Amino acid sequence: MARYGIYGSHTPETCPLYFVKYAQVFVDIAELEPEELATAYGIRQIEAQYHSALEHTFLWIVEAEQPHLIEAFGIDTGLASFNTIRIVPIHTFAETVDRLKMAHHL
Ligand SMILES: [Zn+2]
Repeated sequence: MARYGIYGSHTPETCPLYFVKYAQVFVDIAELEPEELATAYGIRQIEAQYHSALEHTFLWIVEAEQPHLIEAFGIDTGLASFNTIRIVPIHTFAETVDRLKMAHHL
């Protein structure tokens, strides 16, 4: 299990604010059952979901089994049909400090 940042961006020309078909994708994702996310995509927990309306970007933070299943989630749900998506392994600041302590024997 690992934590990933899902960084998404789209253009105003494909913004859910203006196109109902893309708004529907977000609504459908919001209504997915946690069990479905876990079973189908290995997404065990969604820790945060932040959006910037005018930058047309978002950051979701998830606990998931592996990034290829997050990729499948993006494709299957339609999220990737109007967003460029980056899936990045991330750590908390505290975890980073612990890793630095170990790496540098601090
Ligand atoms: Zn937008």
